[in-house]
Amino acid sequence: MAMKGVNPYEMAQAQFDKVAAILDLDPATRELLRQALREYSFGIPVRMDDGRVQVFRGFRVQHNDARGPSKGGIRFHPQETLDTVRALAMWMTWKCAVVDIPLGGGKGGVICDPHHLSQREQEQICRGWVRQLARNVGPVADVPAPDVMTSGQHMLWMLDEFEQIHGGHYPGFITGKPVGMGGSEGRTEATGYGVVFTIREALKELGIDVRKTRASVQGFGNVAQYAIRLYTQIGGTVVCVASWDQADQTSYSFRKESGVDADELVRISDRFGGIDKAKAKELGYEVLPGDAWLEQPVDILIPAALENQVRGDNAPKIASTVKLVAEGANGPTTPEADAILQQKGVFLIPDFLANAGGVTCSYFEQVQSNMNYFWEKDEVLAKLDVKMTAAFHAVSELARKKKLYMRDAAYVIAINRVAQACRDRGWV
Ligand code: NAD
Repeated sequence: MAMKGVNPYEMAQAQFDKVAAILDLDPATRELLRQALREYSFGIPVRMDDGRVQVFRGFRVQHNDARGPSKGGIRFHPQETLDTVRALAMWMTWKCAVVDIPLGGGKGGVICDPHHLSQREQEQICRGWVRQLARNVGPVADVPAPDVMTSGQHMLWMLDEFEQIHGGHYPGFITGKPVGMGGSEGRTEATGYGVVFTIREALKELGIDVRKTRASVQGFGNVAQYAIRLYTQIGGTVVCVASWDQADQTSYSFRKESGVDADELVRISDRFGGIDKAKAKELGYEVLPGDAWLEQPVDILIPAALENQVRGDNAPKIASTVKLVAEGANGPTTPEADAILQQKGVFLIPDFLANAGGVTCSYFEQVQSNMNYFWEKDEVLAKLDVKMTAAFHAVSELARKKKLYMRDAAYVIAINRVAQACRDRGWV
């Protein structure tokens, strides 16, 4: 999906170049890591319901697998581009490396609009995608997952095609499967809980008692809902939540000074995480403009909706009480806003660390699938806590020691680990 005016691949490469300079990486390693190891682009012919054949364009990019099989989602989107897939594959390499799971980075996509495709047509796209790549993906090579507009059902169609071709059961080929069909307990909670594990550790480091903190959250989807639940459970108070209103085509913020109740809000939300503003008023919420979540006098901001939300134009409105920003969403903060946060002395937990709970749990799903032995939810979440906590401390320790901004410290750790793996294998 192309972002307006920005080529995400150029952005990902620019970020890499900046950190490669900090690390003083040698030219060969830079050359190797600033682009993908392998890229596949192919046609998927599908017999449509009306009898004609339509050819869809599919992609898979394996950015780097020095640390383990490539890992990353498959997106179905009408505006998908190879450059977006390349950028996302590179970001997956860094995300897996920063949480120190033995996986590399990959991403895939198909240019299509599922809104205008029947279930049968979508199944044929899934099966066609796997037929084109059956020898280049798999539990020990490249492990896909759901992403934008793909679900557990799509993953099962893909798994079935893979198993038909290879003649056996390989549940570790793909993640995001439904629980009971090779999926992992805890995946639904994983990203939001992971965000809060890192917030908890950051507050400890800052010497702040979580029970005395208040937070404001943008978004009320999967990530935000579980982040709000766990943060509230450990004693924090969320006073404001923003969500998108489909009917009005704008966003609103919902404020309740005594603390928002995630369960109460879920009951008045649609399945896309949009909160009903009339019902919210009845429940005692103040309904404010969409940007108000960012301006609240709280201790913690959690952008957990979408990219480019904290920008040069609105970051100056962040209250001086804010001590911590935890990026639940991918890319919510622009480089201009980053500079403002740094100036204000706000502690940042960058996206690919804060929201890595999702991929970490997908890794657990892959491990369980390969063993064909599945853990209880408590065990999954306890293991997730250990991984996220360790990852947070590695990054914050480096940031402190080298006086780096947290985002740069996270990149330094991730890129260094991947570069080291390439050197250890004798690739560079
Ligand atoms: P979701 O679709 O479940 O929820 C998105 C929420 O954002 C909804 O409540 C929606 O109303 C709200 N929203 C949309 N536009 C808005 C706007 N302009 N202002 C205010 N609110 C708005 O999505 P999700 O799965 O919770 O993902 C949220 C973010 O986290 C995305 O950036 C996603 O890429 C990232 N992420 C998600 C996961 C995961 O496991 N779900 C993992 C890593 C990263």
